[in-house]
Amino acid sequence: MSASTVSYGSAVSADFGGGGLVDLRSDTVTRPTPAMRQAMAHAAVGDDVFGDDPTVNVLQQRIAALLGFEAALFMPSGTASNLCALLAHCGRGDEYLVGQLAHTYRYEAGGGAVLGGIQPQPIAQQPDGTLSLAEVEAAIKPDDPHFARSRLLCLENTWNGKVLTQDYLEQATALARRHGLSSHLDGARLFNAAVASGSTAGAIASLFDSVSVCFSKGLGAPVGSALCGTREFIARAHRIRKLTGGGMRQIGLLAAAAMHALDHHVDRLADDHVLAKRLADGLAALPGITVTPPQTNIVFAHVDGGRGPDLLAHLQSRGVLATGLLGLRFVTHLDVDAAGIDRAIAAAGEFLQP
Ligand SMILES: *Cc1c(COP(=O)(O)O)cnc(C)c1O
Repeated sequence: MSASTVSYGSAVSADFGGGGLVDLRSDTVTRPTPAMRQAMAHAAVGDDVFGDDPTVNVLQQRIAALLGFEAALFMPSGTASNLCALLAHCGRGDEYLVGQLAHTYRYEAGGGAVLGGIQPQPIAQQPDGTLSLAEVEAAIKPDDPHFARSRLLCLENTWNGKVLTQDYLEQATALARRHGLSSHLDGARLFNAAVASGSTAGAIASLFDSVSVCFSKGLGAPVGSALCGTREFIARAHRIRKLTGGGMRQIGLLAAAAMHALDHHVDRLADDHVLAKRLADGLAALPGITVTPPQTNIVFAHVDGGRGPDLLAHLQSRGVLATGLLGLRFVTHLDVDAAGIDRAIAAAGEFLQP
């Protein structure tokens, strides 16, 4: 990648030793591959608001079947997908139970409350990413006019790169059913969970009443998510997608990218997981840094003495980008390779053992 093809601002626009940037901020930074661009260029398209886009229709049927649902709807983003799910499951004065640090609760601008009058009931994640089922059960409100109506349990898998076990997901969705709650899975990185656990995305997703998956994370598409559920649920979500401005026209171009990702970029997520482990092992061998062993493609590290921001700045000066929201976070993806990971480790080494 030449410096002229990318602009992240002047601080990081130089050509670092000919190797280009090693951008580990997120798996959303991938560019469509030449083959994906070919698929997009040749996509058959129509007006999807009229239901006329053949590529969108094929993608929706395909992702629904793959994940074990009757129907699916192509969405502009994961946030839109989760919002449409919340509004399709819950009405005003209903409540959904969700992780305190779940994307849907924390990082989606409170859309369910803003647009749907839906009250969140956050529950702290345990270190393994699960919500304690005892806490979930205790938080479900009885039918009493004092309380919001508990209506939905929303889980996230992977959460911060952690895989929730099949056993846990079975118990959690059974608990929801027992109490008359629906269940929604924010599966932005569902395919990472499936690849890491040796399961299938369908086996995980079909435990839930609805699931949202992202094509724009590790799968490497430029845009797009899908929401899956029953035909009746998806019909409601369709109306809400229109209401929130997400009805799109000749988006077969984007659906073709998503389809290409399903064909070519699922199994290779295992490569991202191997690279995350390579990065974690390399960093863990350095002094002054504590690394959480990754289960999938996200590596968290804590730098002693509050020097995390300084390490980030040093890495950036060497063309290695990461983020520091909860400790330091490094995400592997389609556009990084082993050489890039080794450059990231070497750059961290310059700072941690000068
Ligand atoms: C990225 C992500 C989303 C959706 O994000 P968008 O940027 O709106 O596509 C939802 N949930 C999780 C867990 C995510 O990582």
